[in-house]
Amino acid sequence: MIDAIVQSYRDLPLEVLAAITAVFGLFVGSFLNVVIYRYPLEDQTVNEPKRSACPSCGHQLGWTENIPLLSWLWQRGKCKSCSWRIPWRYPLVESMNGFLWGLCAWITLGGDGDVWLLLVRLLVISALVVTTFVDFDCFEIPDSVSIGGMVVGPMLSFLLPQLHVDSASALLFSGADEVTRTGALLNSLVGMASGFGVLWLVGRVGARAFGKDAMGFGDVKLLGAGGAFVGPGGILAALMLGSVLASLWGAAVMWRFYALVQGRARRRAGRKPVAKAWRVARLAGQYVPFGPFLAAGIGIVLLDWNHVLGLLFRT
Ligand SMILES: [Zn+2]
Repeated sequence: MIDAIVQSYRDLPLEVLAAITAVFGLFVGSFLNVVIYRYPLEDQTVNEPKRSACPSCGHQLGWTENIPLLSWLWQRGKCKSCSWRIPWRYPLVESMNGFLWGLCAWITLGGDGDVWLLLVRLLVISALVVTTFVDFDCFEIPDSVSIGGMVVGPMLSFLLPQLHVDSASALLFSGADEVTRTGALLNSLVGMASGFGVLWLVGRVGARAFGKDAMGFGDVKLLGAGGAFVGPGGILAALMLGSVLASLWGAAVMWRFYALVQGRARRRAGRKPVAKAWRVARLAGQYVPFGPFLAAGIGIVLLDWNHVLGLLFRT
């Protein structure tokens, strides 16, 4: 039965497959919004209350107000009952998850991947989306993602060795021409230890050098979980990618605050207190979370790390 459904799904043209998966991704994105919104709230869980309500007036949302993206467009970004402006974050998470799901289907099914590999990748991608937004909001990475990933990663690797088919070390551990279950499992465990170990070490060295915690333990666990899915080579690539992305973002944030403070001071007194602007910019730069960029790195590597590495190291 399931095989028949999977097979008929697989027979569709790639464009249609990607589009269908993207639409599913929109709906799941809508659910992810609930997860992200309720994460810091003490009195709400993912299951309770059953229906979502407007955070401003408490009006319970009917089904026409729960259609991803479309409801937001129809209502022009406002609550139907109290006209509260719905943050652009909600449609952003939905469209981002939809786009990533479509992309995931395109890359996986367009390559040699099967539907099971696609499902695992979709799960990991959505967990990374949640991590990204929770970390931006609360400077915290949910344990259900990081510890959950460390538990589930090795199990899925054993069940689906295909996950590690791009990894040279997985072949090495398999001692054969193709990746075996044991090889995939070993690759997952070594990947987890590498991600965990390297970032922990970076954190220790950073703490010695700067006299403060350079790295949250949440980041360390996240990289461990990522390593369980992409192996040791992949997770180092993800760390490099994440560091580059975080530096670019951090520089942009610092530049924004620097320009802001200096512009204000110039209007007021006609001079340029460079030192103060620089101090504020550095402070703002310290409040850039690392998790979202690690998540982006892991996602890129998960989908197509051979191509990504090829792009980075092409000479
Ligand atoms: Zn309202």
